Amino acid sequence: MRIVHLAAEFAPLAKAGGLGEVILGLPREQARISGEVEIILPKYDFIDLNKLENLKIEVPDFKCLEYANAMWSGRSEGCSVHLLEARHPAGYFHRGKIYGCEDDIARFLYFSRAALEYLKVKKEPIDILHLHDWHVSICAALVKDLFKELKVKAIVLSIHNVEYQGKCDISDLDAIGLKGAAYLSKDKLQDDNPKFPKSINLLKGGIVYADAIVPVSPSYAQEILTPEYGFNLNQTLRKHQAKIKGIINGIDQKIWDPSHDAVLIPSYSVESAIGGKQANREALAKKFPLAVKKRPWLGAVTRLVPQKGPELLEAALEKTLELGGAFLLLGSSPMPTIQEQFDKLKEKYKGNPQVLLHYEYNEAVAHLIYAALDFLIVPSHFEPCGLTQLIAMRYGTIPIVRATGGLKDTVFDCEDSKVPVNQRNGFTFPEATAYSMNQTLERAFKLFRTEVPIFQSMIRRGMEADFSWKKPAQEYLRLYHRLLG
Ligand code: ADP
Repeated sequence: MRIVHLAAEFAPLAKAGGLGEVILGLPREQARISGEVEIILPKYDFIDLNKLENLKIEVPDFKCLEYANAMWSGRSEGCSVHLLEARHPAGYFHRGKIYGCEDDIARFLYFSRAALEYLKVKKEPIDILHLHDWHVSICAALVKDLFKELKVKAIVLSIHNVEYQGKCDISDLDAIGLKGAAYLSKDKLQDDNPKFPKSINLLKGGIVYADAIVPVSPSYAQEILTPEYGFNLNQTLRKHQAKIKGIINGIDQKIWDPSHDAVLIPSYSVESAIGGKQANREALAKKFPLAVKKRPWLGAVTRLVPQKGPELLEAALEKTLELGGAFLLLGSSPMPTIQEQFDKLKEKYKGNPQVLLHYEYNEAVAHLIYAALDFLIVPSHFEPCGLTQLIAMRYGTIPIVRATGGLKDTVFDCEDSKVPVNQRNGFTFPEATAYSMNQTLERAFKLFRTEVPIFQSMIRRGMEADFSWKKPAQEYLRLYHRLLG
């Protein structure tokens, strides 16, 4: 079976968040089970090419519209990785970053068409063309309407976050050779928000044209059918409900392995978790001035965007201090107003040895924080899957999460009598409000202080759980086989 993934991220080379990690773990596991898997992504200027084996220019010169491109191919993590070098005069992938450019729409539309031009040159039949998020959603329409000679048996669209849809004008489609106006209709790519009747919605195009749609958890697959979580695409999703199947993400158990983690001082296993976590707290406390003795340590590793409940993270900080714990946050915001709010918070708690507010994207610090924490808080308003709660459990850190989307599918409250005791692995709260969250923080702190054996058995349960890609990759393969008949 030839599987080709198209995405904007691939963790070893280009990662901005959860998507990049998925486009490492899923293809790698698929390659292990079923042989050859390919990934196509843009050749961003910041990619460290030394991370690829056998890198060579595979197709030196092929056209997309009137512009030249080259395809570089190499191997990484058992997969074939193709880096599309776009020699477009706008220097689309020479911006030092993956997202956040004014012309992101044009950049990814061009990438989408150029990737298909490459596949056309290759002339090899494709069983599954697997698209990820709005950035490459247009490929579904392109394959069915413009690249009919491409032998693609089935198209799968994974939705990692329905909030990001890629809204644009018909002229943006014109620019990549589609007749934009022809797609401005309700049953095609016209935006479902009645306020923007002239807008094209790229993610909607993927939903309409793909053969299967995979939201990244079963609960999220249900939630996005409702107005509250569907970001105006709920009706289109309902219409195409028969194509939807929620599949939970895994985590990369090699990258996230506390027993072989070069960043940790020291690494630790289930047996040595209590001492190992304490030693890492001490290491972190030396790196950043923190009071090691004040416990529990509660924290978050997150993008600071409205979805993640930044106002609730602030409330969690205050509640943690009130309850006598320490609070650690690693994360920054692409939104200036939110970043300003957190800058003020940093000023307010300057010099407080119970607070660490660290605003950067730093993988090494993330590893250390996951190891050092007692609790990870994830107070999301919505969460398609969420990886941080899974990583936390692997590091023996108890998750406290808002029960939504993938959080609801992976974290089970330690006091929930409907769940078998051996599956209870954390704390959940129903509403994204400070009231609901704070009640749960009180429960968690109480358990930490008064029920040490229960707390330790939860640490063990989390560390021993299988959050790998094994099961999800099998589910994707079953879906592929069903599509291929
Ligand atoms: P999302 O993809 O919505 O940002 P996920 O929970 O799915 O959220 O994935 C987040 C990933 O990004 C995790 O691997 C997390 O460790 C990582 N991450 C988030 N913020 C930071 C940061 N500031 N520094 C390092 N890693 C981060």
